[in-house]
Amino acid sequence: MCGIVGVVGKPAREVVLNGLKNLEYRGYDSAGIYLNDLQGHEYLTKAVGRIANLEEKLTPEEEGTTGIGHTRWATHGQPTVENAHPHYSEDGRFYLVHNGVIENYLELKEKYLAGVHFKSETDTEVIAHLVEWEMRTAASLMEAVQKTVKQLEGAYGTVVLDRKDPSRLVVARSGSPIVIGFGVGENFLASDQLALLNVTRRFMYLEEGDVA
Ligand code: GLU
Repeated sequence: MCGIVGVVGKPAREVVLNGLKNLEYRGYDSAGIYLNDLQGHEYLTKAVGRIANLEEKLTPEEEGTTGIGHTRWATHGQPTVENAHPHYSEDGRFYLVHNGVIENYLELKEKYLAGVHFKSETDTEVIAHLVEWEMRTAASLMEAVQKTVKQLEGAYGTVVLDRKDPSRLVVARSGSPIVIGFGVGENFLASDQLALLNVTRRFMYLEEGDVA
């Protein structure tokens, strides 16, 4: 279980990268970041190994006011760029990062996702496809995530973004911690408050089963 950092409402790149670095001591094998500037520009970058390798890949224009980042400790699939998070749904609309293990991912894949093209070997990717599936009937991303996590067995801390409304992040936790940090005109989230101590001291902890 490694690191998650999310930012809404602030130049996000540095906050995400610094936050992930504060969680480096936990160990990880790869890292990734998704940035969206709400002006039609978005960037997804992943690298195997150190966060420094990810930083080397980032071009100067890669910035956003919404960002999600992840350091991965592989449980399903090798530590490769393809398996690094964030992952996204088949329609390319929903991006997410995930800490933990989805124990019934094969069952979910067989039951609901036959015919879906998976781009990674991770258990995580199943969540992205389920969110896409649930969104067909849900009134909001919040509802789609609530319906999705009800089907998951195992441990998750997950953050989901809808490219149609990238000013908002939906988080859910069960078995893996998630904390929300409050700023002024900006909010943050992380798998550990340590990641956010440079940007806020006001925190709210999600309870088991919460979606926010
Ligand atoms: N089970 C997921 C994977 O292998 C997430 C691992 C983690 O918590 O970093 O990609």
